Amino acid sequence: MTTFKDRLAEIEERIGQACRRSGRRREEVRLMAVSKAHPVPSIREAVEAGIVLFGENRVQEFESKRAAMGDLTGQIEVHLIGHLQSNKSAKAAELFSGVDTLDSLRLAERLNDAAGKLNRTLPVLIEIKLSPEAAKTGLDPAGGELEELLGRMIDFRHLAMRGLMTIPPLDDNPETARTCFRGLRELRDKVAARHPALDLSQLSMGMSGDFEIAIEEGSTMVRIGTALFGVREVRT
Ligand SMILES: *Cc1c(COP(=O)(O)O)cnc(C)c1O
Repeated sequence: MTTFKDRLAEIEERIGQACRRSGRRREEVRLMAVSKAHPVPSIREAVEAGIVLFGENRVQEFESKRAAMGDLTGQIEVHLIGHLQSNKSAKAAELFSGVDTLDSLRLAERLNDAAGKLNRTLPVLIEIKLSPEAAKTGLDPAGGELEELLGRMIDFRHLAMRGLMTIPPLDDNPETARTCFRGLRELRDKVAARHPALDLSQLSMGMSGDFEIAIEEGSTMVRIGTALFGVREVRT
């Protein structure tokens, strides 16, 4: 049986190769370990192997894990990468180091209020839906809400804009994912030019099956679950 360390070494090797192929430095790409559906001991093993950034997709699941994490909590950064209902904003602002799935103006308002009450600034990424077949969540890049949200970010003093995130449609053809990743980068370049005061430097894209393509297309954060922790028993 392979250990977490073995799997991490293999992923590191592949990230390094993808960076070299695309003329990028390894430091430009953060590795997020997606620990959803895996228990606290798996998170501990990952931390021992050197992982400092984690992704979880459910508020409640992470709330119960965190209660059992003890000393680990202070050593790691955990981002929410699943859809957030605005009625869970307060909990999310309290639990997570960042929310990578901001997908409406209303959610931004709720999160900003919640972060304000906690006297903190919450880093956020806007989730973008780049094709009709992609996951149901995410803002339509062609709709007016994205522009409106970006325009309002200056008022949201407790949110810190960091960039964009996307989940490509499920497709066996890796070129579908490439088109989607490239689309996210181009969208970022376009909106960054319109909003020079905002930090849109982060592009969270790429998972176990397509992270090398995502790095070639400019990803700054790959979200890897299965290839690090093994197959999840429950579908999440
Ligand atoms: C589960 C999940 C991942 C990780 O997917 P793997 O294919 O297991 O690497 C990445 N991003 C999001 C948003 C997820 O929900």
